[in-house]
Formats: sequence, structure tokens, C-alpha cells
Amino acid sequence: MKKAKGKAATAQAKNPAAVVRGIEVTAGRRRSLRAFGGTLVLAAAAAVSVLDLPEPGGDLGLFALGVGLAALLFRSRPRLLGILILPTMAAVLYPRFRIDLGTGLFAAAEASAIAGVIWYAAWRFARQRVADEKSMSALEATIDELRAISIRDPLTGLYNRRFAYEAGRGYSAQSRRYGNDLHVLMLDIDHFKHVNDDFGHAAGDEALKGLAEILLNIVRQSDVAARIGGEEFLILLPQTGAEAAYNIANRIRDSVAAASFKSVPRKVTVSLGVAGLREGELFETAVERADACLYQSKHSGRNRVTVG
Ligand code: GH3
Ligand code: MG
Ligand code: MG
Repeated sequence: MKKAKGKAATAQAKNPAAVVRGIEVTAGRRRSLRAFGGTLVLAAAAAVSVLDLPEPGGDLGLFALGVGLAALLFRSRPRLLGILILPTMAAVLYPRFRIDLGTGLFAAAEASAIAGVIWYAAWRFARQRVADEKSMSALEATIDELRAISIRDPLTGLYNRRFAYEAGRGYSAQSRRYGNDLHVLMLDIDHFKHVNDDFGHAAGDEALKGLAEILLNIVRQSDVAARIGGEEFLILLPQTGAEAAYNIANRIRDSVAAASFKSVPRKVTVSLGVAGLREGELFETAVERADACLYQSKHSGRNRVTVG
């Protein structure tokens, strides 16, 4: 069991889409097998009813009354109830037939068998539908889960590079159509290599998580904060003007410089570059300009914001 879980997790890490496809194939195969079985049962019932229809019974009405009473005893067994009630109804519908009791009993027994098979097939079909719905909603939940995983950075929980670029292209298309402002921020931790060298990689990871928390506390829900590289972050600020974007960048810089990271007993600082999407410009070009500003921040002493 443990082994299987491990294997599934590996497959998920490798290719979430392949896992989804695998589940779809298995669920689909199971569904079609069950549907095939259900069809076979129904076909058998139809064949029996056509080939060996009971001769209508004389005292069938009387017999059916007894069967009906017996059915009452089996109320808690719906399948059995169905087997017994259907011949009762048949007898009530045809009370005018007159044949001897023996033939009547035989006919009723046969009708019961046919009715039972049909009832059972219907019951299986209904149960299968419920099971299908359940497995469909489980599949949808798995797809949602995989989708959520595929757009996030596992360490910090921020969005990943792919999602940030997709979102950025979407925001820039909106910006072109409606003239909305879009600003992008590039952020890089200063001398992060020294942090790892001095306190260890695990401590560095904790600092990355702490930084992600700071970012999430500052940006709005509609903004996108993403970790796009080891210690590089991209923040998209849709519908945000130049002044507001500059202020947000400075708040991030100040908050990081003022924060104390448990795992890193030393001041941690970040450098940022800010760029606004220009008319007719590609999203990627705006990111490149923000990156150029970031490196200007690095070259002019770090722990600062440059706007371009
Ligand atoms: P600068 O101020 O110029 O950015 O200096 P820096 O040391 O931050 O820059 P550099 O690019 O030389 O080093 C980045 C370091 O970030 C190297 C690597 O050890 C560390 N790093 C990258 N990804 C991770 C990660 O996932 N976890 C940890 N703990 N460290 C990482
Ligand atoms: Mg870097
Ligand atoms: Mg760095």
C-alpha cells in the first residue's frame, strides 16, 4: 500500500497530466465493463420473457393476493419486494383468466423470475449510476487538486513561473484592450548564497518561506506573487499605476529588511526592479525591463528599488 502511494506520488511529481489520464482510462474501462454486464442481464430477461411467457393463470388473482401479503413481510428487502410485487400487479391486471391453480402457480413463479431479473437489472443500473457519479466527482476533485499543484511552487506555496507568465500574458491582453495599467516587480534576495553557506540550505529554505509570507501579506488577492527561480520572485500588479507599484515595492523591501527570520539570525534584504507595461509591448519585454532595473538595484548597493 505504502509502495503504491509512493509510486503514485512519483508519477504525480513527474507528470500530473499522465496521472489524470490514467485515472480516466481506468474509470472509463470499469464503467464500460459494468454497462456491458447490465446490458447482458437485461437482454437475458427480455429473451426469457419472449421465449417462455407464462400462460395466464386462472386463480392467479388469489395467488397474487398471497404473494402481495408475503411481500409486505419483506418490506425491508426492496429487491425481493420488487420480485413479488410485479406478478401481483400482473395478476390484478388480468383477473379474468381462468385456468387451474397449478398452471397459475407455475405462471406466477415464472413471472416472478422474469420480474426479478428485470428488477435486479434496474437496481444494478441505478446503483451503477450512483457509483459513476461518485467516481466522476472523485475524478473532478483529483483534477482540481492536480491543477492546483501544477500552478504552485511546492516550497513556498506561491504561484510558479509558468502560471505567472500565463497570467501576465492574460493581464497584458486586457491592458491592451481596456487600457488598464499593469506593473511587474522583479525581486531577488541579496547575497543569498552567503545565507546558505553560513546557516545551511534548510535555513535558506525557511527564509524563502518567510519571504513568501511577507509578499502575501502585502500584495492584493488579485495580484500574482510567484517564485520563478531559486531566490527570484515575480509579482504582477494589474490595474496598478506607477506610483502605487513603486510604493508596494518599497513596502516589500522595508518589510523584509525589518523582518527577523528564525532560521537566519542575520538581516536579510532584497533588491527590486519595477516596470510598467508600455503600449504595444509584450509582457515578456516588460519583465526583461523590470529585471534590468533589478540588476541596477544590485549594482548600486542592493536593498533598494529601481523603476524603469
Ligand atoms: P545577489 O545579491 O547578487 O543576488 O547574490 P546571491 O548570492 O543571492 O546570488 P547568486 O545567484 O550568486 O546565488 C543565489 C543562491 O541562491 C545560490 C543558491 O545556493 C541559492 N538558492 C537557489 N535556490 C535555492 C533554494 O531553493 N533553497 C535555498 N536554500 N537556496 C537556494
Ligand atoms: Mg538570483
Ligand atoms: Mg540573489
